[in-house]
Amino acid sequence: MPWTYDPNNIFARILRGEIPNKTVLDTAHALAFHDIRPLAPFHVLVIPKGAYVTFDHFAAEAGAEELLDFHRAAARVCAMAGPEGYRGITNAGAFGMQEVPHYHLHVLGGRVLGRLVDPA
Ligand code: AMP
Repeated sequence: MPWTYDPNNIFARILRGEIPNKTVLDTAHALAFHDIRPLAPFHVLVIPKGAYVTFDHFAAEAGAEELLDFHRAAARVCAMAGPEGYRGITNAGAFGMQEVPHYHLHVLGGRVLGRLVDPA
């Protein structure tokens, strides 16, 4: 996938403080906040503060400190989902139906979430 970052995407604007958000965790390299249209009782997005478009972009090009900090933050958010489990989702590109072109991990929980993907 091409990794051309749009600095005006909505999550970049959240990181610049131009748009409010309901923060649950703020670390050196990551921000976690409630999804504006929650699909489950717990629905939090974890994003890196760096300019990465997708999971594969972040995994391929982020530095060690960013990778560690992001994943430690994500682990803390997963714990917030509660003891009965959660689902982590990341969408990329057209087939993944990615809406916001800044890498984000959805962490959903608080109910049984159904099967992984709807059958085509
Ligand atoms: P995706 O389809 O994986 O790109 O998901 C993007 C997610 O961002 C959706 O679940 C939206 O509800 C969520 N979203 C869009 N704008 C905002 C916002 N301003 N604050 C919080 N979540 C947002």
